[in-house]
Amino acid sequence: MSSVAVVGLGGMGSRIARRLLDAGHEVVVWNRTPEKAKSFTAVAETPADAACKAEAVITMVADPEALREVTEGPDGVAAGEPDTLIQMSTVSPGAIRRLEPLFPSLLDAPVLGSLSEVEDGTLKVFASGPEDLIERWTPLLSDLGTVIRVGRTGAGTAAKLVANSTLLGVLGVLGEALRIANKLGLSQEATFDVLAQTPISAQAERRRPAVESGEFPRRFALSLALKDAELIQEASPDLKVAAAVREWFAEATDASWGDRDYSAILAWLLR
Ligand code: NAP
Repeated sequence: MSSVAVVGLGGMGSRIARRLLDAGHEVVVWNRTPEKAKSFTAVAETPADAACKAEAVITMVADPEALREVTEGPDGVAAGEPDTLIQMSTVSPGAIRRLEPLFPSLLDAPVLGSLSEVEDGTLKVFASGPEDLIERWTPLLSDLGTVIRVGRTGAGTAAKLVANSTLLGVLGVLGEALRIANKLGLSQEATFDVLAQTPISAQAERRRPAVESGEFPRRFALSLALKDAELIQEASPDLKVAAAVREWFAEATDASWGDRDYSAILAWLLR
């Protein structure tokens, strides 16, 4: 059993905290909007306070700016001098470099998988940092999913951006395929029959019920997918497919679709 603080109780962080509690760990939480912490018994006053009350702090917040806000300053996690910071949000390589001087024991460990994968403990955790630190926290991280060691500090974030470049790219390709099929007058049934014979068959099959019903239950906000597309472009401005995908997500976000699930980009492309 470990004593851990979870900072950030959004869709992912709240489930991570709940899963760790269910696995028998001692968990203290903090969230910017206090209402989201109401169902937890151990609630800290500030991120620094949360850090004082636990051996390790997990950060699971929206983006690099949010990470800076919860880690730095007099109320930030760093001020609480935790044993270890386990950073799991999807952020930029620069955001991780910024953490390094603040946290002598830092695990850069973003995740692949969404809400149901946290609940089932089937996330993929891209763990990077000193080997002994990964070793030490693997039992805790294994309660959330499979730990995949990817290298030195920063490699976790690199791995996550690489993984998401494929995730967003495939959605863009699928959306454009549906769009051209629509323009050419191919029925949706025939379109999905055709897509089943292509390299994106698994993704087409997975997204088919949502496209047919028009219901895209929210797991991962479209605005956060845009954030990831921007992080990918920032990391490598020469990518052309990634730039095009980012444009679709930016367009949908500008049209107030940011709160929908990111897979609603397919509906945006089909509108
Ligand atoms: P979410 O539901 O939108 O929650 C975002 C969290 O960040 C909330 O706790 C929010 O606090 C906090 N936050 C935002 N801005 C902040 C700020 N300036 N200062 C302090 N806290 C701030 O997002 P999520 O889906 O849990 O995603 C969290 C992270 O995991 C993101 O980096 C995302 O890209 C990544 N991720 C998500 C998924 C997924 O499927 N959802 C999968 C893998 C990775 P408030 O409650 O006060 O707004």
